[in-house]
Amino acid sequence: VPEIALVGRSNVGKSSLINCLTNRNKLARTSSTPGKTATINFYQIQKDRYRIVDLPGYGYAKVSKAEQEKWSAMIDTYLSKRYNLVQVIQLVDARHAPSKDDITMADWIRHYNFNTIVVATKIDKLKKSQIDKNLTEIYNDLQMDNNSILIPFSAEKRTGRNDLIALFDEILSNYSISEK
Ligand code: GDP
Repeated sequence: VPEIALVGRSNVGKSSLINCLTNRNKLARTSSTPGKTATINFYQIQKDRYRIVDLPGYGYAKVSKAEQEKWSAMIDTYLSKRYNLVQVIQLVDARHAPSKDDITMADWIRHYNFNTIVVATKIDKLKKSQIDKNLTEIYNDLQMDNNSILIPFSAEKRTGRNDLIALFDEILSNYSISEK
């Protein structure tokens, strides 16, 4: 089964996005214990047509070095060895400039040869006049280019939900073509 993985800083809105996409309220947990390396969770979509993979969040301020290393090893194993992983999608909070960790993660995703796809979350929290400026900052800081995709999103207002679903469909149809 093809897998689409989501990754982002803790609290970026990943669980809310998964719940919004799947129309469920309590499927994905919407908080976890800071400082603990969580596990990778898999969500079956459309009777297992594909899976959304919830990678544990990065960037807790107080995470120990050992926990950070555990996280990196787990992510590296998953990203480098998963033959059915078709795309990694990075989530960043639309309100803030990308953190150092966000920038490192974007580089890492490119290093594994995935096209850069970024979802800017919590877009409803921005004033209309702020949106373009913040999206441009994300685009530049994460070194996105013409092949990259940046989707403004709000789980609260369901902004960008249809764009994301269309994108998933495109990714999955490319995958099934390459399988044949
Ligand atoms: P996760 O740690 O990445 O899974 O983040 P969560 O989905 O648990 O969200 C973290 C916090 O941000 C929660 O308090 C959510 O209610 C809030 N949040 C998530 N998405 C949105 C959004 O689109 N709009 C607003 N206003 N708040 C959001």
